[in-house]
Amino acid sequence: MVGAGLSGAVMARKLAEAGHLVTVCDERSHIAGNCYTERDADTGVMVHVYGPHIFHTDDEGVWDYVNRFANFLPFVNRVKTTSGGRVFLLPVNLHTINQFFNKTLRPDEAKEFITSIADQTIGEPKTFEDQALKFVGRDLYEAFFKGYTMKQWGVEPTQLPASILKRLPVRFNYDDNYFFHRFQGMPENGYTEMVEKILDHDNIELKLNTRYSRAESASYAHVFYSGPLDGYFDFELGRLGYRTLDFERFYYDGDYQGCAVMNYGDLDVPYTRITEHKHFSPWEKHEKSICYRESARSCEEGDIPYYPIRMADEKALLARYVERAGQEPGVTFVGRLGTYRYLDMDVTIREALDTADAYLNASANAQKLGAFFVSP
Ligand SMILES: Cc1cc2nc3c(=O)[nH]c(=O)nc-3n(C[C@H](O)[C@H](O)[C@H](O)COP(=O)(O)OP(=O)(O)OC[C@H]3O[C@@H](n4cnc5c(N)ncnc54)[C@H](O)[C@@H]3O)c2cc1C
Repeated sequence: MVGAGLSGAVMARKLAEAGHLVTVCDERSHIAGNCYTERDADTGVMVHVYGPHIFHTDDEGVWDYVNRFANFLPFVNRVKTTSGGRVFLLPVNLHTINQFFNKTLRPDEAKEFITSIADQTIGEPKTFEDQALKFVGRDLYEAFFKGYTMKQWGVEPTQLPASILKRLPVRFNYDDNYFFHRFQGMPENGYTEMVEKILDHDNIELKLNTRYSRAESASYAHVFYSGPLDGYFDFELGRLGYRTLDFERFYYDGDYQGCAVMNYGDLDVPYTRITEHKHFSPWEKHEKSICYRESARSCEEGDIPYYPIRMADEKALLARYVERAGQEPGVTFVGRLGTYRYLDMDVTIREALDTADAYLNASANAQKLGAFFVSP
């Protein structure tokens, strides 16, 4: 099992419980991959080291699974955004609309109003910008979508596909819960402890600070690889494009921003958001605070790959790597890096459980699992 993130840990546990001996290696010095949390030595605050992680799902099986290994406490993600020198609620909802336009509209009136300011001249939207203008009109688009998207993706929204903004990004009620899912929460003692418990099984051997290379594949009955797909092949066909993140850590005596996540929609503010970690554990009391100022940029060699870009060029290269992977016997590529997709934690866990099941079924029938259980 290459990678001790959620993909690797969940698969290892399932195979170990079925009687397999599993070696899990990770090149990092810690488990939990990008979900890694640790207590900050100065403040005692639980820090989401690779960026904020809120657990949310509609999948009851996955919710039961994580609750087996951690005590989840209620946490609802309520994001704010600063735009044009004012603070608004996200996702854009009735409160945001009324505040932004200085109105007191009820839901039906707000729907009518947004329709009246939306760009009706756009037929079939092709780009992100078309889609946003068609849905919400120029004012809301520029205040809440344009600058943030440009900072996050490093390109004009006219170069991004309309599909990024799949449905109407506005709510005509006062619901400011960022996620739609039935279950949402935060592990009381962080994600690292949860992954530690998942990996705690007699049949699992854990090797940290251990980088896996392709040459080792012949030594194992099967390899599950949750590292970068292009990295497995030493980037021989080129590099798949990612966005990386920079986190500028800073301390504050007291409460810096009064909420966990504050976005910044304006282009003249270089960062996309500030995360104040102590607000992710509202059941804890901390006088001091630690915050992350987060900005996105193109991922270069040596950076941590965060968000797969998946534009036309990347998809063409991805198709070549997928073909290449199909010629590699005994290896299955899994997880967000192995399949080059953005995956929430709940989807990662679901896919890991299903892939492990598929492997167990295949083994029971003397068959091999292919390069991908979930197609990239
Ligand atoms: C900024 C950000 C915020 C997010 N917020 C949320 C959120 O709020 N809610 C949510 O549900 N999801 C969130 N996610 C998604 C979440 O991080 C992923 O679902 C999860 O990390 C995927 O787990 P994984 O095991 O597939 O990958 P990873 O966590 O990336 O684990 C892969 C591991 O493989 C190791 N590795 C790679 N190559 C090698 C090699 N050659 N040898 C050895 N080890 C190797 C890496 O060191 C890493 O530890 C967020 C993601 C990002 C980027």
